[in-house]
Amino acid sequence: MTPDLQHLIELQELDLAAERQRRRVTDIPVLQAALDARLADRTAVVDEVKARIAASQAARRDIERDLAAVQARLSKFKNQLMEVKTNKEYQAMQKEMTVAEQEISDQETRLLERMEEADALAAELKEAEAALKAERSETEGVRRALDSEREQVAAELERTSTERARVAAQISREALAIFARVAHGRKGVAVAEARDGLCTVCHVRLRPQMFNEVRRNASILQCDSCTRILYFAGSPSATSPQESGAQP
Ligand SMILES: [Zn+2]
Repeated sequence: MTPDLQHLIELQELDLAAERQRRRVTDIPVLQAALDARLADRTAVVDEVKARIAASQAARRDIERDLAAVQARLSKFKNQLMEVKTNKEYQAMQKEMTVAEQEISDQETRLLERMEEADALAAELKEAEAALKAERSETEGVRRALDSEREQVAAELERTSTERARVAAQISREALAIFARVAHGRKGVAVAEARDGLCTVCHVRLRPQMFNEVRRNASILQCDSCTRILYFAGSPSATSPQESGAQP
């Protein structure tokens, strides 16, 4: 294989590696933002339960205030009962007291419901806080791993770039120009292996004479269809009877 062709293959591998490394460096902050979003969701659940607890406590305080008022009214009636003069007044007072007692009973029922609700909300809060804590410790671990991976990949990208410059310096200007032109038009893939008579990237069949030429790896040949620089990776003598020495 000519040194140019060998170096172009290396250049291609380095470019593809650099592309993967660049993409990973870009993807990592996106993954970390997704972790932040998950943590924010858990925090929102905790905040929402806390808001319901505050509302429930406010409602309970209202009931307790109403209950105290009606209890005060009832004890006032009890004191007044001793002072009534007529049977009619007595009956009216009794009626008022029955109403107050019923109201106390209703308020006590509502208070009990609020106390049960408070127990359920406390359990819900505990669960939400545990989930938040678990999410936080998990995301912190993943975040740290992603941080160090990003640093590592950025360093690899540096090395890839240095290596690319070293390899490119060894390639002839013409070959490098062809590579750059094809890479530009073909999403960065300028070199293609030829195998079984096909260009393995665009899958178009090569002319037999062309394939035989490519198999020699002796010059820069481009695929008629996709224009990529072709090379042959198999052993020419093992796969090409024409070159096995059986013919002159
Ligand atoms: Zn092709």
